[in-house]
Amino acid sequence: MKPFRTEKYNDFTKPVIRKKMEKALAKVESQFGREYSIIIGGKRIRLDKKFHSYNPSKKGEIIGTFQKADEQTAEQAMDAALETFKSWRYTSAKTRANYLFKIANIMRKRRFELDAWMVLEEGKNWLEADADVAEAIDFCDYYAHEVLRYDKGPKLYEFPGEINKQIYIPLGVGIVIPPWNFPLAILVGMTTASFVCGNTVILKPSSSSPGIAAKFMEIIEQAKVPVGVVNFLTGPGAIAGDYLVRHPKTRFIAFTGSKAVGLRIVEQAGKAQPGQIWIKRVIAEMGGKDLIIVDSEADIDSAVTGARASAFGFQGQKCSACSRLILDDNIYDKFMKKFIPTVEAIKVGPVKNYENYMGPVINEPAYNSILEYIKIGKSEGNLICGGEPDPGDGWFIQPTVIVDIEAHHRIFQEEIFGPVLAVTRARNFDHAIELANDSVYGLTGAVYTKNKKKIEKAKREVFVGNLYINRKCTGALVGIQPFGGFNMSGTDSKAGGPDYLLLFMQAKSIAEYLGTKKKVKKSTKSKRKKRK
Ligand code: NAD
Repeated sequence: MKPFRTEKYNDFTKPVIRKKMEKALAKVESQFGREYSIIIGGKRIRLDKKFHSYNPSKKGEIIGTFQKADEQTAEQAMDAALETFKSWRYTSAKTRANYLFKIANIMRKRRFELDAWMVLEEGKNWLEADADVAEAIDFCDYYAHEVLRYDKGPKLYEFPGEINKQIYIPLGVGIVIPPWNFPLAILVGMTTASFVCGNTVILKPSSSSPGIAAKFMEIIEQAKVPVGVVNFLTGPGAIAGDYLVRHPKTRFIAFTGSKAVGLRIVEQAGKAQPGQIWIKRVIAEMGGKDLIIVDSEADIDSAVTGARASAFGFQGQKCSACSRLILDDNIYDKFMKKFIPTVEAIKVGPVKNYENYMGPVINEPAYNSILEYIKIGKSEGNLICGGEPDPGDGWFIQPTVIVDIEAHHRIFQEEIFGPVLAVTRARNFDHAIELANDSVYGLTGAVYTKNKKKIEKAKREVFVGNLYINRKCTGALVGIQPFGGFNMSGTDSKAGGPDYLLLFMQAKSIAEYLGTKKKVKKSTKSKRKKRK
């Protein structure tokens, strides 16, 4: 088994790589309009009620047609997942890990195709799309390694006359509810973590990215994961999602999405239903109001690059995106003089064209909500850049910067999830930290300063799950920067880290009494020998 290493990104500056991507984009476009089934226990199911997934770069262009699951279909999925759990729970960790290695390899082979799906269904630029696919591959590889590590069990102290061990066993049926914004990475991460631990899964993808989810389901089948281990259920969150969250046989829910839906899930899952015999476990990773502090002693050029990428990469639609820029008064003018021209230079348009850095926002409700926040921001502060829809066929919005924002303003406090940056002045470093922590969220933050004492202070006092020093606040890597936030940003699950799989298992402690003293000694000795 090769040691874990993160995937390299494709270098799209090379013409040969660009050609491959163009070919993949054409191939995916030729598949537009296909219909995709719900898949339960390996059976394909079509329903009367359907919905479409659209290309956000071209209003009205249908990517695919999907089934709208109702409660009855959700119940069928639960039956299949429960039935499969009876055998899947006892498969070895090695067998389960091997499926993940296989899935990772298939994704490597289908990399450009998956990239292209993300560009067309999501409006991610090529590099962002490729990073999403790379992260999905990393999750598979990493969790496969991790489950084998957990399988060895923790080290316990010895007790005379007994063999003691702690083993990790699965929980049961899990409902996996991912967001649309990392439609492959987060979906794959939560799904594979669930089933590599011996659980079975009902996967309910977001209705804004069901096409990419359907491609992952194809890969699950290609890897010959036994039917019923992952059941694929498309449809509205408020129907299928709600029903399954409340279901008495649901053992855990792995959710990533907004604060509002996350809190609803926590509340619903907390109510024991008739026939329920356990406390449901909820892993809920939610929103952010992430920040970058640029201190008076910072490297300004590096901070400008980091702030631009963090605020406007993927149109600001990352949970980790910088939406609060906190600038020390002493460098404010110098920073803004360099920063604003780089924002104005951002190319917005269909990301099918490689040269466009920023694509559309995901859909019409998001577009309207972001424009409404821009209106609010203009009334709270001063717009100095962007602020308008960008012309074109899709849901394009210009990169927007609003200054003179204070901590009590709505655009300082509420998650906008779009290309809108609120800029606030800080009197000094202490004030900057105070502003940074003035939020119900606590997901990511970056601090730019060359002062070592201030770096140590930031490490101690900036209250976020993922803190970055002198680099951007987006782009956490699997196995390197475990990811998850504090406060209303979620349960701090630290996806892609060594504690993550524990959330999908329960530990069983087994003490075996060995009988007579003679036997005890012999057995303990032979066990010690074996260990050596
Ligand atoms: P969302 O909350 O609207 O939807 C997330 C998922 O929940 C979707 O699959 C949706 O269908 C489902 N859902 C909706 N209503 C439901 C209900 N009543 N019961 C069960 N499921 C339901 O979020 P979104 O718009 O898809 O994603 C954007 C949000 O996700 C942002 O707030 C972003 O910050 C957050 N996010 C957080 C992280 C993180 O790691 N903390 C990562 C990515 C995105």
